[in-house]
Amino acid sequence: MFAPFCPVHGSRVLLFAENIRSVRNTPGGIDVYYRCNCGYFGVWHTGRP
Ligand SMILES: [Zn+2]
Repeated sequence: MFAPFCPVHGSRVLLFAENIRSVRNTPGGIDVYYRCNCGYFGVWHTGRP
């Protein structure tokens, strides 16, 4: 699980694998495209594989 910042919630929210839409590897790390429980779509950037 992970806890990205959601602007709709105005705070970090705890999300799980089922919230992940896609994962993309970039030179600077990994971009995780997720959908929050509130319906917000966002990108969570992480450097860990
Ligand atoms: Zn949210």
